[in-house]
Amino acid sequence: MIEDRVHALLSELAAGNPFGEPVVLVAATKTRTPEEIGRAVDAGIRDVGENRVQEFCAKAGKIHGATLHFIGHLQTNKVKYLVGNCALIHSVDRDELAEAIARRANALGCVQDVLIQINIGNEDSKGGYPFEEGMRAYLRLKELGGIRIRGFMAMLPLSDDEQLLSSLADRMRALFDEARKTDGTVSYLSMGMSGDFRLCVRHGANMVRLGTTIFGER
Ligand SMILES: *Cc1c(COP(=O)(O)O)cnc(C)c1O
Repeated sequence: MIEDRVHALLSELAAGNPFGEPVVLVAATKTRTPEEIGRAVDAGIRDVGENRVQEFCAKAGKIHGATLHFIGHLQTNKVKYLVGNCALIHSVDRDELAEAIARRANALGCVQDVLIQINIGNEDSKGGYPFEEGMRAYLRLKELGGIRIRGFMAMLPLSDDEQLLSSLADRMRALFDEARKTDGTVSYLSMGMSGDFRLCVRHGANMVRLGTTIFGER
């Protein structure tokens, strides 16, 4: 039952992470119906993340009582559908995209909150800045008016090697801490999906994106 899973997750995550921070649970809702999402929201979900623009637009008006996030790969020509309608874009993975979001926000007279996506496992199949460029990307994008960098997002590789995953998660936490040292608007490390969220929280994630654990297999 969606409701039972949401209750169990919220009470587990209520302990926060070892850094003493609350952990935000974002329900990853791709392929889920507004009815299923509504059940999750009624059970206590307050943040919902879509990863396709078309699905985001189709469902946005049907989701009540939750904040909308965008967590998927984003084409620059679709930025216009999200800016101003989305609390947090997790997937800023290139300068061109950040600039397009900033331009749109400036045109609307708003400021768009975003996360910088890091390709922490260096995988061809995933988007994101290389880890080594993360800090420089942050310093560069921070200067753009129209966007506000709220932190970082990463997806760990699919692997059973806990030691490897732990060290990658630790690197992400170190990058987040480095940026946060001088910038109070940096608040979120969005890292952790159904297969690895407990490990990610142990290593300092404070925002996790869960689909399967809430709604069952897709
Ligand atoms: C689908 C998705 C998730 C959630 O995946 P699960 O394994 O179902 O928890 C998290 N983040 C992103 C970017 C996704 O696309």
